[in-house]
Amino acid sequence: MKTVLKSHNCGELSAKNIGEEVTLSGWVACVRDLGGIIFLELRDRSGFFQLVADPQINPDIHAVFSKLKTESVINIKGKVSKRPDETYNPKLATGEVEVYPTYAQVLSEAETLPFVLDDENVSEDVRLKYRYLDLRREFMLHNLTLRHKVVTAMREYLNGQDFLEVETPILNKTTPEGARDYLVPSRVQEGKFYALPQSPQIFKQLLMVGGIERYYQIAKCFRDEDLRADRQPEFTQVDLEMSFVNQDNVISMVEGLVQAAFKAAGVEVQLPLKRITWQEAMDRFGSDKPDTRFGLELFNVTDIMEASTFQAFKDVIAAGGTVRAIKIPGIAGYSRKDMDDVRNLAISFGAKGLAWITYMETGEVKSPVLKFLNEEQIKEIQTRAGAQNGDIVFFVADKPKVVFDVLGRFRLYFGKKLNMINPDDHALLWVVDFPMFEWSDEEGRYMAMHHPFTSPNLDDMDKLKSGDLGNVKSIAYDIVYNGTELGGGSVRIHSPEVQKEVFKALGLDDATVQEKFGFLVNAFRYGTPPHAGLAIGLDRLIALLCRTDSIRDVIAFPKNSGAKCLMSDAPGEATLQQLRELHLKSTVKK
Ligand code: ASP
Repeated sequence: MKTVLKSHNCGELSAKNIGEEVTLSGWVACVRDLGGIIFLELRDRSGFFQLVADPQINPDIHAVFSKLKTESVINIKGKVSKRPDETYNPKLATGEVEVYPTYAQVLSEAETLPFVLDDENVSEDVRLKYRYLDLRREFMLHNLTLRHKVVTAMREYLNGQDFLEVETPILNKTTPEGARDYLVPSRVQEGKFYALPQSPQIFKQLLMVGGIERYYQIAKCFRDEDLRADRQPEFTQVDLEMSFVNQDNVISMVEGLVQAAFKAAGVEVQLPLKRITWQEAMDRFGSDKPDTRFGLELFNVTDIMEASTFQAFKDVIAAGGTVRAIKIPGIAGYSRKDMDDVRNLAISFGAKGLAWITYMETGEVKSPVLKFLNEEQIKEIQTRAGAQNGDIVFFVADKPKVVFDVLGRFRLYFGKKLNMINPDDHALLWVVDFPMFEWSDEEGRYMAMHHPFTSPNLDDMDKLKSGDLGNVKSIAYDIVYNGTELGGGSVRIHSPEVQKEVFKALGLDDATVQEKFGFLVNAFRYGTPPHAGLAIGLDRLIALLCRTDSIRDVIAFPKNSGAKCLMSDAPGEATLQQLRELHLKSTVKK
């Protein structure tokens, strides 16, 4: 649309506009004075455009341009002309044309910027403090543009599938994801607090009770957790829920959604996606979000070690542990120091120790544990590993959780180190059949692996009732992309009896359930459709599609790792008056 200050965008002008009168506005990207003639690069969101001021031809304009500071905002008028041969650049979108303005106005003069926009090495703190300037950089504009395109594609897909976009409240009660809540004190209800939603989980289920049948929302969620590189205190989910569906229905709906999202980013996804069970993912990759772009799969040697004379491993197995192994090819030449580093790495990942067998290039087999194994056992390990001369097989023995975690991280470490990962591959898959509960050492009890509204596998109801919680599977599923969890969801419980059993297993008594989730449980008494859903972490999806490691690079105004906004200085202090109104007292000493 034409406006008074813009007839065209900078980046859209080309040879076909030659002779046209145009009005352009934008930022002064750079000014070059070449022997009296000034070349000015004007930038707006669409791209760059060359303006020329020649003191012989347009002295007034030349006078304005010669005083201009970069990043000032200007408005010009003039006729598009063909560039002379010397500056003709057919490779650039606008490289065939230029304008000798006949009118120029400075709309806003810029002070010297705190950093040069194309400086690659500017620190992230500075970028975040001046985020509005950082957003002018091409790469940030690219990321936000891609985010917009992907979100638009996802909305269009879901709208086309009959979903309704519904907003759910931000000020509410605690939700069941299990992270720490952000609390907002109520002024009118003395001593009461709202909790910001960790997700719209309860509300989307209530929307199903309300007959909406297909819901989605690009939802802001809040979790007060210690922030890792890929976490933000507030983040965005593409959240959806469907009625009258089973797991397969949700999976194929979401596959279409993910395909549309990737397509908007220029990546073709072939459907259907592979599915593997949680157990298989752990056994083969040591992770419930496996990066399947490369091999280095784990294998089980518990039976062999149990029959060996290696007491340390036998003790672990007797205590219910497991022994798993991984073969790393071509590193048999590692020095003693290299091996110390590898052992320390395993220990930093949580292992108590590391054992290995080295298959030397010479054919010799060396290992500190060889003496505990007989010929046959040694052979069997080599067969299971598929080990060749030059390879090393590593073993870790511990509780399954520790073993998988250590070897899973080992696998990723060597996958990267040995350049086994092709960054152009796109490995999308589903992990299904998650356990319903997970033991928490910290809490000394079983916790819901997904959340307490996730349906157990109904075949496992006996185990649930008898308290064999470690073996109850759930109808939960995660979608994984290149080793990162993109999203997860589940079929929900809609029977009050099953819900009661699950709350019981989680140690939630009736009073706590009523206090926390009473409104959901009560709603289920009035006709509840079977329902299921899922949420995709939008920031992470966009970061992966933009190929950046940091979700901060795809959020316009993110917080730093201290949950602080370096630009606005949030969180700020409250005045005594505000605290009083909120019925709060500060214990912070000034
Ligand atoms: N609310 C869940 C989460 O945020 C997703 C779901 O079950 O739909 O992880």
